[in-house]
Amino acid sequence: MKTVIGNWKMNVGVRESIALARGTLLTLRGRKVVPNLIICPSFIALSEVRKVIARSSVSLCAQNMSWEDKGAFTGEISSRMLDEVGVTHVLIGHSERRGLFSETDEIVNRKLKKALENNLTPIVCIGESVEHREEGGYLEIIKNQIASALGGIRLRSSAKLFIAYEPIWAIGTGKNADVAQVIEVHEFIKTVLSDIFPGIKEDQLNVLYGGSVNGDNAYALLREKSIDGVLVGGASVKINQFKDVIEAASEVLEAQE
Ligand code: PEP
Repeated sequence: MKTVIGNWKMNVGVRESIALARGTLLTLRGRKVVPNLIICPSFIALSEVRKVIARSSVSLCAQNMSWEDKGAFTGEISSRMLDEVGVTHVLIGHSERRGLFSETDEIVNRKLKKALENNLTPIVCIGESVEHREEGGYLEIIKNQIASALGGIRLRSSAKLFIAYEPIWAIGTGKNADVAQVIEVHEFIKTVLSDIFPGIKEDQLNVLYGGSVNGDNAYALLREKSIDGVLVGGASVKINQFKDVIEAASEVLEAQE
C-alpha cells in the first residue's frame, strides 16, 4: 500500500477546508485502486471535515497535539479531544513546530507516547537542515532524532507508526530531495527501525517522504519500494495538484497489481 497525506497547515479556514475535503473525495471517484489517504485540516475544521469524509476511506489527522490529557494548558488540544471528533492520526514534530515553536526531541517523545496511549496513529516528522546535508552528517542526525523520538516506546501489535522523512531544506522550497537521496535515507531509517523494533510486522512501520512533493515528482518517488508514501504540504491545498499526486499513487498501485 502507498500512503498520501495532505498537510493543510494554517492555509485554509473552515469553509475552504470543507470544499477541499469534497474536492479530495472527488479525486477518488471511479478509481479501482486508491492509496491510503489522510488529510490534516486545522483544529477548527476537524469536525466539519469529518462530516464530509464520513463513509469514505479517507482518514482524519490533526497537525499537532498536547502531551497532556487534560488540565490548565491554555490553547492546547489533547489526544482524547481529537479522538472525540473522529481524528485517527496525528502529525508529531513537524519541522515548523520544531523550528518555530521550540518543540524539542523530548517533547516529540512525550507526544508520541501520549498519542499511542490514546490509540492515535502517529506520523513523526524528522529531517536534517541544509547545513547538516552539506556537511554530510545527516544520517547521524536522522538516527539521533529517531532514537530520541522513540525512546521508551513499545508498539502494540495493533499499532502503526509512520515516520515522515522531511529534509528541512526541501519543505516549501520547491526543491525536493531527489529519488536517490530519499532512497538512501529511507533504507537507513528502515534499518534503524528494525534494530529498535526487532521482529515487528512490516506493515506496522511506514516511512514517508515529504518536501515539495507535487504532481511532477510524485510518481518517481512513489514507485520506489522503500518509499511507503508521501506527505504533501503546499500542493495538498491546490486541488488540481493534489489530484495529480493521488493519481500518481493510484497508478503505482495499479502497476503493482
Ligand atoms: C510539509 O508541510 O510537511 C511539507 C512537506 O510541505 P511542502 O510539501 O509544501 O514542502
